[in-house]
Amino acid sequence: MSGDHSATNTLNMAWEATASCFSDNPIASPVVPCPDQSGSSGGKGWTVAEVKTIISKTDPKVIEEICNGKIKIITFDTAYDKWKYDDGREEEDELKGLLGNTIRDKKEIRIRNSMTSQEAASTLFHEMGHMTRKAPSTQEGYLQEEIDVRVETEEFRIRQGMASTAKGYRTPAGKVDRAFIENQIKNSTHYNPKGRKRIGRRYVGEAIPSGWCPP
Ligand SMILES: [Zn+2]
Repeated sequence: MSGDHSATNTLNMAWEATASCFSDNPIASPVVPCPDQSGSSGGKGWTVAEVKTIISKTDPKVIEEICNGKIKIITFDTAYDKWKYDDGREEEDELKGLLGNTIRDKKEIRIRNSMTSQEAASTLFHEMGHMTRKAPSTQEGYLQEEIDVRVETEEFRIRQGMASTAKGYRTPAGKVDRAFIENQIKNSTHYNPKGRKRIGRRYVGEAIPSGWCPP
């Protein structure tokens, strides 16, 4: 599930931007543009062939899971969330920072078009981390899952030789800093919805690219 809220915490903007790079945040967590990936709608920056090659280099099992699990991978140009505020007002906001989303029961993963193949690979790896887990039954469970998936994604990025997701995600020794990630997610006001509820989402420019799996 995904969502966000209206509060903008200027003390924590850098993290907010990073935290919002994945769509599957718990309800009422923030989605704001990611500094290095937001931007123009449309324009495909990655290809199925490149993303497959990148993931297969270190984690071929993820591609097998996509194929064996018949996971449907849908691309999109941008997305909008509809919000209802406590005062009754409704508003639709573009999710410029939304990179990916997982709908577990429908076996659907959505990946934004406008990303490099490396970032798309990292996003797909992240979303498959959600897809292959059982849906949590509590809000706390969703938070824990997000922490675990972020840690795994950061480990993937290390295996890939990619830069860290965000400042603080790695220790000076270059290992994943789980405590940092956990602290961020558990203590952030972003994960405590205030003043509005998400009541809908729509995606724009959806397409289903082929080529993930052998025919
Ligand atoms: Zn996630």
